[in-house]
Amino acid sequence: MTDSRRALVLFSGGQDSTACLAWALDRYAHVETIGFAYAQRHLVELEARQFVLRQLRAQFPHWAPRLGLDHTLDLSLLGQISDTALTDERAIEMDAGGLPNTFVPGRNLLFFTFAATVAYRRGLSVLVGGMCETDFSGYPDCRDNALKSLQVALSLGLDTPMTVETPLMWLDKAQTWGFSAALGGEKLNALIVEHTHTCYLGDRTHRHAWGYGCGHCPACALRGRGFKAWRAHGDRPFRDTEPDAAGAAPVR
Ligand code: ZN
Repeated sequence: MTDSRRALVLFSGGQDSTACLAWALDRYAHVETIGFAYAQRHLVELEARQFVLRQLRAQFPHWAPRLGLDHTLDLSLLGQISDTALTDERAIEMDAGGLPNTFVPGRNLLFFTFAATVAYRRGLSVLVGGMCETDFSGYPDCRDNALKSLQVALSLGLDTPMTVETPLMWLDKAQTWGFSAALGGEKLNALIVEHTHTCYLGDRTHRHAWGYGCGHCPACALRGRGFKAWRAHGDRPFRDTEPDAAGAAPVR
């Protein structure tokens, strides 16, 4: 049954947000997308967004009429308040607090708040994001309670119900592949493999079974390991508890 509410998906062009977009298209009558440009080292992510949107429209005609406008906000000011591997050329490493230095403090709170402002203007009342507690993450603003409290703050501050949905919150990477397969079958996972982008280094030249990437950075390691586990375990309930040999940072 279709939910008549209108949704806005935080869409980066990566695996997680593409799975969330499919979830929203399967569920809501009208879905728009929003992406944030903030001086990422690689424009690959922003290009991947457009490929994925085009392919979703072409390959899933029953979803296409629901897929509305795509919004891109320039948040380059984040470059002024962060000094991280996402926004300069420093190597990806863990800082003293155990957080990967790709951490932009409070980034998801900012993203949701900007998204809520756009949603308000566009008459959209559901915000969907791919945040997840299950894979190791040092990002406190990805946690369920942080986002539930943000939902309350946004709804009060905008004086209109604003629901924050995070369908991947309790899934690991292997289950996320299963989640997207359940929504769009092998066709959707093939699209995710081919067109979504995860690699921190922006590598689109090396093709693996799980997609393009350097194969070595923490983001590639996590994506590859989840894909392998999903292939090995199929649709059975599965928790990936294998020790993280690469010291993988989470992919967000
Ligand atoms: Zn990589």
